[in-house]
Amino acid sequence: MVSLSIAVVGAGVAGLAAASCLADAGHSVVVFERFQQAKPVGAGLLLQPTGLAVLERLGLREEAAALGSRIERLYGRCGPTGPLIFDRRYDELLPGLHGIGIHRASLFHLLMKAAEARGIALEQAADITEISGTESRPVIEDSTGRRHGPFDLVVDAGGARSRLRDRLGAPQRRAYRHGAVWGVGRDTGFVRDALQQRYRTARFMIGVLPVGRLPHDPTPLNAFFWSMPVEELDRWHQTDLTAWRAEVAAIWRETEPLTRQFTQHGQLTPARYAQLTVAEPIRGRLVMIGDAWHQTSPQLGQGANMALLDAAALADALTLHATIDAALPAFVAQRRNHIRFYQMASTVLTQFFQSHSRLTGPMRNLTFGPMGRLPWLRSEMVKTLAGLKTGPFSWSRPEDLAGQATTGQPSIAFQRQEA
Ligand SMILES: Cc1cc2nc3c(=O)[nH]c(=O)nc-3n(C[C@H](O)[C@H](O)[C@H](O)COP(=O)(O)OP(=O)(O)OC[C@H]3O[C@@H](n4cnc5c(N)ncnc54)[C@H](O)[C@@H]3O)c2cc1C
Repeated sequence: MVSLSIAVVGAGVAGLAAASCLADAGHSVVVFERFQQAKPVGAGLLLQPTGLAVLERLGLREEAAALGSRIERLYGRCGPTGPLIFDRRYDELLPGLHGIGIHRASLFHLLMKAAEARGIALEQAADITEISGTESRPVIEDSTGRRHGPFDLVVDAGGARSRLRDRLGAPQRRAYRHGAVWGVGRDTGFVRDALQQRYRTARFMIGVLPVGRLPHDPTPLNAFFWSMPVEELDRWHQTDLTAWRAEVAAIWRETEPLTRQFTQHGQLTPARYAQLTVAEPIRGRLVMIGDAWHQTSPQLGQGANMALLDAAALADALTLHATIDAALPAFVAQRRNHIRFYQMASTVLTQFFQSHSRLTGPMRNLTFGPMGRLPWLRSEMVKTLAGLKTGPFSWSRPEDLAGQATTGQPSIAFQRQEA
């Protein structure tokens, strides 16, 4: 397709990655960010093989590996001595397959650097609230009344609380009854190469993820989360931190040197979870990507990875199709099955790990360990955790999901669809 003029709303994971993928495909891109200075929000996250394949395509994988921490396995057990729930290695599925734990600031730094290297314009302090002319040449407007455009296409990458999306019609948002507090502390060495979790019933869960270091500081870090029902999250700022540390240590003693670093409530940030899917993410010449299109609980750690996949798939669809009107539905069709599977899987799994139910915790403790010993189920679990499932009985390799537009080869998923 000829070079298009594209506005990307939001300089988060989806927006910055989309901007670079679209620039690589020859389009002219401007990114609009509501913050005065674009910045990451949150602690650390797990980049799955899918997200890493998109970073590879953008030339960022080596730097992500240098800043982050290589994750080989996911390990979870109940309490200090309870049953083993998971112990899955990525390379059970494909040799060398792994994830990377990374601080959000480091991922943001890489994506921002990539956008700058491509000469992508960034308009900061531009809180985009209105769009007009979506059918042909959309114009966007920020909260101060400044108008920008017209553009050939507007990409809404405004995240879970996208105002532009909400302006176009309120989506169904289902709030989960669980959330978490998240923080980052110095690595105390008790968790290596793994995302580790500990559970107490289905109500409380602790997670520790090595996330490497910040771009300008060599100190190795761990992300820590403590998940709990929202009514307890609301009272978090009143919690006695000494008693809380003891409660965490009773479930997982080795966390003590890490939790001792949290001396003020403000070091742990509350996060509430919700599920939201916009059934029709195309409105004329506007398309939604990332959390603006689909948001879920981070139970499976896929949201940022799905945002990266959306970014790559959108650029590929615009390369492969002669018109925007053909490209946007092809983009949505290519991503839909993957998104549907992970929305469904996150909802189901959240019931076993973060819910008020008295049944799901004991059921999980009885069944997950034995299920993991069945070879077929074991392999399905690794595919699910690695972000590779495209349906209950199908999966794709990371490089196929991420497409290969920079080499001129559309993703296999696209080729199949086109055939
Ligand atoms: C506690 C927690 C843990 C998580 N852990 C993981 C994990 O381990 N792995 C994983 O893959 N995912 C994880 N996720 C999910 C992941 O963070 C999100 O899916 C991902 O950040 C979505 O990216 P995005 O770019 O769509 O949205 P965001 O990252 O939210 O970015 C949206 C951007 O748009 C800007 N913006 C919003 N509105 C406007 C506007 N009107 N005008 C201009 N700019 C605007 C915002 O300021 C922001 O910069 C986690 C989420 C949570 C809450």
